[in-house]
This record gives sequence, C-alpha cells and structure tokens, in this order.
Amino acid sequence: MSLSGKEFLDSAIQQFEDAADILGLEDSFREMLKMPKRTLIVSVPVRMDDGSIKTFMGVRVQHSDALGPFKGGIRYYPTVTVEEVTALAMLMTWKTAVMNLPYGGAKGGVRCNPKQMSLNELERLTRRYTAMIYNIIGPHIDIPAPDVYTDAQTMAWIMDTYSQLRGEPTPAVVTGKPVNLGGCEGRAEATSYGVAVCVRESAKKFGMPLKNARIAIQGYGNVGAYAAEILYDWGAKIIAVSDSKGGILSQDGLNPYKVGEHKKKTGSVVGFNNTKKITNEELLELECDFLIPAALEGQIHKGNADNIRAKVIIEGANGPVTPEADKILNQKGVKVIPDILASAGGVTVSYLEWVQNLQRFYWTREEVLRKLDDKMVKAFNEVAQYQEKYNIDYRKAAMALAVERVVNAIKSRGLWP
Ligand code: NAD
Repeated sequence: MSLSGKEFLDSAIQQFEDAADILGLEDSFREMLKMPKRTLIVSVPVRMDDGSIKTFMGVRVQHSDALGPFKGGIRYYPTVTVEEVTALAMLMTWKTAVMNLPYGGAKGGVRCNPKQMSLNELERLTRRYTAMIYNIIGPHIDIPAPDVYTDAQTMAWIMDTYSQLRGEPTPAVVTGKPVNLGGCEGRAEATSYGVAVCVRESAKKFGMPLKNARIAIQGYGNVGAYAAEILYDWGAKIIAVSDSKGGILSQDGLNPYKVGEHKKKTGSVVGFNNTKKITNEELLELECDFLIPAALEGQIHKGNADNIRAKVIIEGANGPVTPEADKILNQKGVKVIPDILASAGGVTVSYLEWVQNLQRFYWTREEVLRKLDDKMVKAFNEVAQYQEKYNIDYRKAAMALAVERVVNAIKSRGLWP
C-alpha cells in the first residue's frame, strides 16, 4: 500500500480524532493538536560533484513540545512531502508520550534521491540543511535522529555542523550518532528489543507461554533480524521469516543466527537449509502465536486480514496494519500491539543517548537494555490498563493514553499570553 502524503495525514488525524472521542476532548484541544506548532520549509542548494548546483526541498515539522523538546527523525527520499512529514511528526508526539519520555514530536525530510548521490554530495546536503534549520533545533529545543536513508554518519555531520556554528561541541543535538561520538551502546538492536519485550509481556498478559511460542517475522532487516535473535534466545520458536525475495518456513524452528549468516552470504533468507520456501503473503497467513510485521507499511489490509491466523500481531514496522484491517482483526479477536508502543524501543534508547550526552556519563549495553526493558514494561502495562478501562483495542488505548498525557501537559501549562 502506498498512501499519498495527504491520505497519510488524513489517517493520522483520524486516529487522533478517535482517541479524542474516547477521551471526550474539547474542540479547542482538537484544533490545537491537529496542527503542528511550527513548519519550516527550506531550500537547500548543493554543489554537485560535476560542479553544477541543485536545489532540494527540505522541511522540519515540529508538531508539539508540550511534554518536552521536539524529537523525531530526518528522512531523505525522492517523494518526501510536507503532509507526510507532518503526519509522521504527529505520530512522534504520540510515540514519545506513550513511552512517557520528556519529549514532544517532530520529523524532518529532504526531497532527494540518496541512492543517486555520492557521499560527498550527501555530506554537503546534510550540512546545508542543518544550517537552514539551525535556528529551530538544539539539545533543548529539537533533537533529530536517523530515519529512512539517513544513518549514524548523517547524524555525525549534523552534530559537527551544529557544533561548528555554535562554537561548542554539542553531541546532544542529535541521537543515533556513532558510538565514538557519543552514540549509545545497544542502539542497533533497541527497536527489536522493544518488540521482543512486547511479545514477552503479551504472552504473560494473554496466558501464552513464551517458551516454544510460535513466531513468524516478516522482514529480516534491522528490526526483524535482531527481534528473531532475541526471541530465540528467550526460548521462543521462530517458525518463519522473510525478506523482499520471499520467506522460509520450518515447523521445527529456525536458528536466526544461522539464517543471518546465510543471508549475509547469499543476500536473502531464501534457500536456508531444511526449510520450505513460502511467499510473503503465505507468511502473513501462517497459523502461529505471534506475527511480527517488520518490513513495510500496509502489509495487512482488507484483502488479507480475514485470513490472518496469528493470535497476536506485534507491529515492528510503522503502520503495517491498515485501519480497515484493524476492524476485521478486532472482530476476529486477533490482538494487535500497535506501532507507537511496539516499535518505540528506538526512540526510547535515543532518549537514553541524549541523557548520557547531557550528563557526559556513559552506560554499558546491559545498563541501557535494562532501562529500556523497564520503560517498555511500564508503557505496556499502562496501555493495557487503558484497554481495560475503556474496553477498546490496544491501538486506541495507546493513542488515548498518549493524547491524554499531551493534553494534561497543555492544561497544566495554561495558555500564554
Ligand atoms: P530495513 O531496511 O533494515 O529492513 C527491512 C526488511 O524488509 C528487509 O529485510 C527487506 O528485505 C524487507 N522487505 C522489503 N520489502 C519487503 C516485502 N515486500 N516483503 C517482505 N519483506 C520486505 O528496515 P528496518 O530498519 O528493519 O525497518 C523496518 C520497519 O520498521 C520500517 O517500517 C521502519 O519504519 C520501522 N521502524 C524501524 C526502526 C528502527 O530503529 N530501525 C524504528 C521504528 C520503526
């Protein structure tokens, strides 16, 4: 499914309105939160390697800072639109609020095709974009992070540019940096660790033993592969995994470390020893305890939702279940642990990175993952309480909890002037 920026924004606003209905929110707050606090659109001229100058559209949308400084990634993508980035900024507000992080929500983007640009061109683009948004970011104002086609190197360039302009080393202006520049141990597997905690806590909540729980994972990238390894280490049985080239099934269970080695050698999980080749569609419809979509948005839609035989879906990806599919799954009794909770491990460890940068005191990977574990368990239980209190699904419960936290902060602050 590929939603246009406008459709994506409409659906983000609808999700917010649904939560507002549950909470009986006044119109004044609805109007305030449907709109970002600030949107900065910038032109980013870059000298290309051949000497020509190209100008790219850049944007930073700051949705809410009611609970703390704005926080959210920056994506480089040929089809970036202001509407799409606005929707993502709004989702970041709810994601940080549901995790009870002292942050608001923001998102940035530059409309470019990073696959067709050299490393030098990307560096010049990043530094110029940073200079253009310099006035509205900062360690206590707005803290960017990596997103689609930006990475630790991009963050290092932003951190360096900001520090040069400011005249002081400022590692806390971005998260997702390389570890040698103040990045956080455990960041690489943080989102997957959060996904795994959601599996563990759901198993407890729904009375399903984690030992030998049958798990299918779509997507074997950053999120999917680490999630498979962590859950395997915790005693679950990974029966199927997939990537863009297809999937593999073994009812006896896979060793994800060996699957990873195979993917490294051959470029895909397909063809791994003693497994049956399946399609991505078949993977989604397998009978299993937990299904973890960890690839793309819109994978479970109205066309296949009725065929889903998993007991619980844990959303590792952003938006893998469409709103129509949500309704069908609800009627079938399939539980869905939503992305704003299940995939929040990354932003939570970003928060831990920022705290370490500010205090200039660093934690080990074990300390980081223990703090992440505590935060995920707390958020999971709080969402479960809202689910019971309002008798709604987990997505609506997570949204209601998040929106209520943001609105309460606005109410406590009052309106200035
Ligand atoms: P990634 O690029 O590392 O991995 C994506 C995986 O999906 C790859 O294995 C790819 O082969 C596979 N894939 C692509 N098309 C597919 C298809 N049609 N069917 C099945 N598999 C397909 O990306 P990632 O960082 O693992 O992110 C995955 C999802 O999780 C995205 O929605 C992302 O927005 C979300 N997410 C990631 C993080 C993070 O920290 N990386 C945090 C929050 C949310």
